[in-house]
Amino acid sequence: MSRRQTLKLLAGFKRFKEKYFSGVDSLYANSLSSGQSPKTLVIACSDSRVDPSLMASAGPGDLFVVRNVANLVPPCESAHNGLHGVSAAIEFAVKSLKVENIVILGHRQCGGIRALVEGVEDKESFIGPWVRIAKRAREKVLQENIHSDGETLCKLCEKEAIKVSLENLMTFPFVAEAVENRGLQLIGVYFDLENGSLSEYDDTTGEFKTLIEDAL
Ligand SMILES: [Zn+2]
Repeated sequence: MSRRQTLKLLAGFKRFKEKYFSGVDSLYANSLSSGQSPKTLVIACSDSRVDPSLMASAGPGDLFVVRNVANLVPPCESAHNGLHGVSAAIEFAVKSLKVENIVILGHRQCGGIRALVEGVEDKESFIGPWVRIAKRAREKVLQENIHSDGETLCKLCEKEAIKVSLENLMTFPFVAEAVENRGLQLIGVYFDLENGSLSEYDDTTGEFKTLIEDAL
């Protein structure tokens, strides 16, 4: 990291500390230094333009966040094979923190979904196998939109992959149990960063409906 970048980060941390650590209203002194109790787990993309805490104007302690390439949830697999960072975070959020909502936050211009749609040639790439978690989204979109251009396919796939992640969440027994027994909500949200609109997946219609109208 360049010295200039480091200084920028330090200046940012100084402002953060003034806001959350100082005075009688210090969030950390009053509550967060002794534990966290976020109500929502957000699974978002690593994309620098899609920061869930910034987007929700959330403060420290508000959101439990997992970020990865293309905001994907893998299906539940044996804990004894491979390493499962996303699954571990979901387990902790649901079983220990007992979050009330899980939000899958997808977005326009997702590079991970583009890699899924276009394919990854490098056989050593970690990205190819990872994004194929949503391969059934790709297959469905390609089948149903055979004459569409690449950009449209990406856009459709960004939304379809959110549905795959919602379905995969239910393959975790502790998620299915929490949905059934304590009303855990599974929510799919799509952020169109080209026009500032936010929409939510409606499983009764299978469509995304606008929550916040286009801002531009
Ligand atoms: Zn993305």
